[in-house]
Amino acid sequence: MNKSSAIYAARAKLKPLVFPGRAVGKDLLPGGQLMLTTDVENYPGFPDGIMGPQMMELFFKQAMNFDTRVVTDKGVCSGDQVSTGLFTLFQDVASIDLGKHPFHIKADNGFECDSHSLIIATGAKANWLGQENEQRLAQSGGGVSACAVCDGALPMFRDRELAVVGGGDSAVEEATYLTKFASKVYMIHRRDQLRASKIMQERALNNGKIEILWNKVVLDVLGEEKINGMKLKDTQSGQESELAVSGLFMAIGHTPITEFLDGQVDLDDKGYIKLADPYRSTTSVEGVFAAGDVADSVYRQAVTAAGMGCKAAIDAERWLAEQGIE
Ligand code: NAP
Repeated sequence: MNKSSAIYAARAKLKPLVFPGRAVGKDLLPGGQLMLTTDVENYPGFPDGIMGPQMMELFFKQAMNFDTRVVTDKGVCSGDQVSTGLFTLFQDVASIDLGKHPFHIKADNGFECDSHSLIIATGAKANWLGQENEQRLAQSGGGVSACAVCDGALPMFRDRELAVVGGGDSAVEEATYLTKFASKVYMIHRRDQLRASKIMQERALNNGKIEILWNKVVLDVLGEEKINGMKLKDTQSGQESELAVSGLFMAIGHTPITEFLDGQVDLDDKGYIKLADPYRSTTSVEGVFAAGDVADSVYRQAVTAAGMGCKAAIDAERWLAEQGIE
């Protein structure tokens, strides 16, 4: 459940029980993608911008100030019992049975509960190319990452030439962030036009440390213990080339986290939860609502996710009232 759902549900006296999710590597964190973002400049109310993790801590604190409960490794906790905020050890949802009502939820560390209504706000995780050397060097700390904000400041990347793969807002954001530390950042994009918004495109094009390599795909990542280069292919000419870099950051989009639903909720062709009514948060299962990136392949913004969370909590509250459940 996202924080705005929790705030609305708690203020409606529904006593929401939240599974904030366990941290898995650097791709999945309680607080979601905003934990991996630097400055958030487009969320109303923060005229000077705010760092993503700081914003998530504030949202979390606000939710916990009301009657929100969270499932941690130490059991169910309320506000004053979670002193380390989003760095608490939370439990993840392992499986859900939506076949009968109330729904049954099992967490990854043994906790189980029944729930009359459910809001799914599990977000999305970073995509990888899926190549063998990419994965090997990503897992061994060999200079391949899907999060510049998490890893970009490491000494191994200082004053080095780095690469970012992708042409969307994330790729520009990551490349721009990396220019604080790197001597040069190559953006490797498979087309001749960026997908990023105009303002972000200008940011990349006007940054003297960023060079965009157009129409290029990554054939392989080179290096034994540490990355030392990449093999590229030009999509127009078919010509192959090598690029020497000391770090590689993937920014090629995200995949919604819906696996645990095990096909019990209808998804669209990209794997995002399909809303039964696009103006609401209803799903294919009565009493199950969805909010945020897990149900939004179009906007995927902090502000839209927060708005969807509010809608989901109100929809859940009304649905429970209609069922006569207090
Ligand atoms: P995105 O918009 O889906 O862009 C993904 C990029 O990766 C695209 O350029 C795509 O190429 C490329 N790509 C995908 N698969 C690839 C592959 N297998 N090999 C090579 N390239 C591949 O994802 P995003 O940049 O993460 O942005 C997601 C959403 O978050 C967007 O709505 C964005 O506006 C938002 N966002 C906003 C901000 C901000 O405003 N500060 C920051 C980050 C993200 P093609 O273009 O050819 O498809």
